[in-house]
Amino acid sequence: MNDLLPSEVARWHAMEETIREVVRLHGYREIRVPVIEHTPLYVRSVGEGTDIVDKEMYSFTFHDEPMTVRPEGTAGVVRAYVEHAVHTKEPVSRFYYEGPMFRGERPARGRYRQFHQAGCEVFGDPGPVVDAEMIDMIVALFARLGIKDVEVLVNSLGGKGTKAKYREKLVEYLTPEKDALSEDSKRRLSTNPLRILDSKDPRDQAAIKDAPSVLDVIDDDDRAHFDGLRRHLDKLQTPYTVEPRLVRGLDYYSRTLFEIRGRGGELGAQNTLAGGGRYDGLVEELGGPATPAIGFAAGLERLLLATELPAKKLEADVLIAPMGERAAGEALVIARELRAAGVPVVVEGRGGSLKSMLRRANSLGSAKAIVIGDGELDRGVVQLKDLAGHSQKDVPRAEIVLAVKS
Ligand code: AMP
Repeated sequence: MNDLLPSEVARWHAMEETIREVVRLHGYREIRVPVIEHTPLYVRSVGEGTDIVDKEMYSFTFHDEPMTVRPEGTAGVVRAYVEHAVHTKEPVSRFYYEGPMFRGERPARGRYRQFHQAGCEVFGDPGPVVDAEMIDMIVALFARLGIKDVEVLVNSLGGKGTKAKYREKLVEYLTPEKDALSEDSKRRLSTNPLRILDSKDPRDQAAIKDAPSVLDVIDDDDRAHFDGLRRHLDKLQTPYTVEPRLVRGLDYYSRTLFEIRGRGGELGAQNTLAGGGRYDGLVEELGGPATPAIGFAAGLERLLLATELPAKKLEADVLIAPMGERAAGEALVIARELRAAGVPVVVEGRGGSLKSMLRRANSLGSAKAIVIGDGELDRGVVQLKDLAGHSQKDVPRAEIVLAVKS
């Protein structure tokens, strides 16, 4: 879990502004939900046998109620969608969220225990048009953030029927290999066999290398949906690769699945920038009406590692440097006038030499400084310094706001 000091937060703000702008252009509105939910919500949606539910959740009991600090955003948003019967108010909902998520993973560069995600969810649209649009939006967003070297991986898990058929086929294939699997995956073979495809354990990787793919058993409707997605991506000229073994670590997915990976930069092994997919059964599973849905989440720490986005270093446009006690009082009044006119101002209240005060202006990134001493006060003026142009002039006290703004 990281502290973010103000110098870093400036980069976060720049990134968050870009994300908000892009999702707004795609018709998404922000939803804010609690960071704590009842534990069973995650067990039912993310799923038993997943690393998140089995090992990584920060769970606790509060007055006999099992609670969990959210490991991901979708479950809470779906809970809110159902609880507020949003489907009765609008046929299609496009939600955007952003905030901290918590998983007790082993920390590494780009992998933290408190990290931040921005994500979108669409309810009430079966796709595949919206699926292609969502993938295109993420690629466009990354390009705006200066992350152009990305790889888009897509797959389809199929719907309920396909998923069940595939599970059977996979168990059939892996059962003779059982002894070669990791301990976790031996267990998963009976509880949640698809999770074995997600395993990073080299023993499991070897065993699944030639395993059958979902696309071998996908039924006609699911195949048509997937082909539709691919046609739209082709039309958009969004390059992608079909990755038949992509399953992703959450249970609720069905049909479209995708992942966007970055290449190069400081990402190293943690190069999955965003991932998502369709979860057509989850709203119903959590007590709502049958509602098709799709969503994704992007990891903000990883986006920052991948982008060159410069920090906007601007803490105050203007520094006021009062020379002495009488000038300090006047400085506070001038600062108030400037702020009322929308100009960010800092008063250097510590005193000291003019030189040291101007050094402070420099470190704040201020373009201008206002210097006031007893002489200026007596003459009814202030000294306005243009720090970049190294020029200065006296400005009548009454005209200072106008002079700074021009
Ligand atoms: P997921 O919710 O697992 O599908 O992850 C979506 C995205 O969140 C990933 O592609 C990462 O960018 C990010 N992410 C997931 N887990 C972590 C973590 N522990 N630390 C930092 N980012 C993460």
